[in-house]
Amino acid sequence: MGKKNSEFLTILDKVGKVRSLDRQKLLDELARAYQEMEDLNRSLAEANEQKTKLLDQLKLQASDLEQQIREDGLTGLYNRRYLDLRIENEFSRAKRYNRNLAVIMADIDRFKLINDTHSHLVGDEVLKVMAHLFRHNLRTVDFVARYGGEEFVLLLPETPSNGAILVCERIRREIEDYKWGALRPGLAVTMSFGLTCDINVADHAAMLAQADAKLYEAKRGGRNQVRF
Ligand code: GH3
Ligand code: MG
Ligand code: MG
Repeated sequence: MGKKNSEFLTILDKVGKVRSLDRQKLLDELARAYQEMEDLNRSLAEANEQKTKLLDQLKLQASDLEQQIREDGLTGLYNRRYLDLRIENEFSRAKRYNRNLAVIMADIDRFKLINDTHSHLVGDEVLKVMAHLFRHNLRTVDFVARYGGEEFVLLLPETPSNGAILVCERIRREIEDYKWGALRPGLAVTMSFGLTCDINVADHAAMLAQADAKLYEAKRGGRNQVRF
């Protein structure tokens, strides 16, 4: 082999070494990049999981809040704020489609006397039992709210007056017959009801006023009765 040839081979050998060095570097780079991508993917999946958890938590909190906004704290019934929304909707729906709607105002008789005789705590227990009796006697489409201290408003959609009178009478009797003595010896509770089904009035407030006027008649008539 001549000198020139052996020099040429040395050069080729060097070039080969450089190339394999470059290849190795490239492979190392690739492996590192791949690892980085894997790590990123993992953190992304973790972040995603955390985001889903947070979203679920937020949804729960939102529905809790929504319930709190609608609910009366003592009885768990709807509160007046929510009633105002619902009665407006129910009234316009009944009016637009000419459907039945019964609006009832109910008020515990001589509740002040109950508080004074048996204590405010017993009064609160009476309110809770009332809520239970209402729920127990109404359909799921019906709506009952604690309107004020010892006043309740019931909305019965798709219910004509004879049906609504029957519902009120049934609840009135159940309240009268309830074993209140188990709560406090000597305790007796009754309730008066005023009801209207007249949707040919200006607005929902007029229906409420009409139910209230009937309730007043029931009180004046001796309490523990339904007026319509
Ligand atoms: P009437 O038969 O005419 O309705 O007489 P009443 O005593 O029920 O009516 P009045 O409006 O004079 O009294 C209502 C009472 O309700 C007075 C108030 O102390 C009581 N009350 C209001 N809210 C609550 C409550 O959350 N808990 C208790 N225990 N009592 C309440
Ligand atoms: Mg009362
Ligand atoms: Mg009252």
